[in-house]
Amino acid sequence: MIDIFNKKYCPCCNVQTENNIFYKAFGIPILNNVVYHTHQEGKDAQTGDVQLQACSNCGFFYNSSFNPKFIQYDSRYNSSRVYSSIFNQYLDQIVEHISTFTSKNENILELGCGDGEFLKKLCQKCSVQGFGYDISIDDSEKDSCNLF
Ligand SMILES: [Zn+2]
Repeated sequence: MIDIFNKKYCPCCNVQTENNIFYKAFGIPILNNVVYHTHQEGKDAQTGDVQLQACSNCGFFYNSSFNPKFIQYDSRYNSSRVYSSIFNQYLDQIVEHISTFTSKNENILELGCGDGEFLKKLCQKCSVQGFGYDISIDDSEKDSCNLF
């Protein structure tokens, strides 16, 4: 089994990587879509480091400091932007663009789809079959839009 979080190997092609980190940032909040109820709760949020590097074999870019043990999705996590009219306009533009090169009844897979807002728009506009996967989605949010 490939250990995709072994920092010495590319998580995409599993080839040993060189230490070619091109960006570092430290003490960055682990999750950026969490609603904190107090200022102090926000200040105490779990942080981690970012060290971006590119695999010289396949070109995959990744955070070599990523540790999945820090990721804990709970009821405070909310990635929805559905209440922003500006963001909805942006999504509509992207859907319109994608509609120019999709065909009716095609299957579309969106990885990291959140609660499927974008995928639902795409399915309605383009008459495609959408499938979405997001690790943050709990069972109550998986509805008729084929979210996994
Ligand atoms: Zn690679």
